[in-house]
Amino acid sequence: MGKYIFVIGGVMSGVGKGTSSAAMGKILQDRGYNVTAIKVDPYINVDAGTMNPVEHGEVFVTDDGDETDQDIGIYERFLNTNIYKENYMTTGRVYLSVIERERALGYKGKCVEVVPHVPEEIVRRIRHATKRAKAEITLIEIGGTVGEYQNILFLEAARMMHLASPKDVLFALVSYLPIPDKIGEMKTKPTQHAARTLNSAGINPDFVIARSSRPLDEPRKRKISLFCAVEKEDIISAPDADTVYEVPIIFEKQKLAERILAKFGLEPKKQKPKDWARLVQTIKSVKKPVRIGVIGKYFSTGSFVLSDVYISVLEAIKHACWHHKVKPEILWMNSEEFEKDPKKIKDLAKLEGVIIPGGFGTRGIEGKVEAIRHARENNIPYLGLCYGMQCAVIEFARNVAGLSAANTTEIDPKAKYPVIHIMDEQKDKVDDKDYGGTMRLGAYPCVLHPDSLSRKAYGAKTISERHRHRYEFNNAYRDILTEKGLMIAGRSPDRRLVEIIELPNHPFFVATQFHPEFKSRPLHPHPLFREFIAAALRGDKNNKKK
Ligand code: GLN
Repeated sequence: MGKYIFVIGGVMSGVGKGTSSAAMGKILQDRGYNVTAIKVDPYINVDAGTMNPVEHGEVFVTDDGDETDQDIGIYERFLNTNIYKENYMTTGRVYLSVIERERALGYKGKCVEVVPHVPEEIVRRIRHATKRAKAEITLIEIGGTVGEYQNILFLEAARMMHLASPKDVLFALVSYLPIPDKIGEMKTKPTQHAARTLNSAGINPDFVIARSSRPLDEPRKRKISLFCAVEKEDIISAPDADTVYEVPIIFEKQKLAERILAKFGLEPKKQKPKDWARLVQTIKSVKKPVRIGVIGKYFSTGSFVLSDVYISVLEAIKHACWHHKVKPEILWMNSEEFEKDPKKIKDLAKLEGVIIPGGFGTRGIEGKVEAIRHARENNIPYLGLCYGMQCAVIEFARNVAGLSAANTTEIDPKAKYPVIHIMDEQKDKVDDKDYGGTMRLGAYPCVLHPDSLSRKAYGAKTISERHRHRYEFNNAYRDILTEKGLMIAGRSPDRRLVEIIELPNHPFFVATQFHPEFKSRPLHPHPLFREFIAAALRGDKNNKKK
């Protein structure tokens, strides 16, 4: 049957339920258990791929090509394992299966009802994911907060699983404890209400993860224990941490792994490893800064600046920096600013490296192309990711190969020099408005050029990386661009699709059609990010390549 921990949010969202789930998984994995984690998003969208990034944050892509919530990325980074399609669930996805099964007479003539058939489908999916991952312990993070209309059916599924096997199912309530400025005291009342609301769904929490800006004190622990009917030792203080990677250590100090295993009737299978604690030590002690600019466009919502859209890029930069024992200093730059005020491009001079991540559509593209020109001409290490690769090809075509009207057909379908164009298999999908889950998605192999920087970085001839795109390098321009000095550093095994370009006469100019950021892990930085940061540290922009 396996063991299951449902992680449910109280009071408000966005307080680190994903990190808490991943950290719980990590400490159990460190005791020798095979752990997996599932994310439930209660919205109707079948996946995260069709949502506006500003609204939803990053779309994380799995090896098997699912477009998921960024929490799946958090699980992969903490658990250092690949997570698959089965581990991501939305209301849309669940209903779609129920309806398709009904159409195929799968319910054998029964009246198909919201309850129990929808929660049953949810349970079926949870068990299926557990089986595929061969997990002994499965965490299931239910998106949103308790009391929301949308997640009731998921809570019902959790209740049903607990009823069927009470010793195998636990519940953790991740709740927020505000400290209002004017009162200056941490308040437990909203958490008490959250626990009551959870009770009305037939669930009592086994653990309360108390998120707050400060640690929880004894009187408040007692209060939560009494009113939420949770043992005092199972109320875990989770104050804001310097880094999310510290959360497993904060949990360890409060013996959370031991408490969970005891409730499941399990023994630790091994001593906990020390490498994670060493990583956190490094994160807290690094001082020498390295300044990396990330140039994108999905930053602002009203008067707030978001970096969630690029969370995997951000984490990949950090992992590489910690590997080199330096402190990442990341500057978010909106490429539209370079269009509004071209003088602002000079701001790039203060950077040691430039990254242009993935993106879609026209807005901000000319600013990106200008930023790439600046990085190329001034020998600033450049790493382009997906759209950042396509923009680099456009820039090179325009400013080095003299094809001044070069563009991608995503922006200008009638471009005179369409150096980036739609992939053959994508044409019909776009024409038919068949957008959901139809990009070129997930892991594909790529063969590296023997003389490329990428080949050296990876230390392998063939690699596998994750994709999410509809457009590609137009091979009709391959000869003219390579004659001018562009290197095709990586291609699909059939040699048709350009996966990596490099500029050999630049200290570090590498741009990929795929998204390396999805595969970077805290203790295993991605080779391209690692070498990019190495180049930034060498100060390559000041030392032109000989
Ligand atoms: N818009 C580009 C394409 O569809 C790049 C996509 C991306 O950056 N993820 O090919």
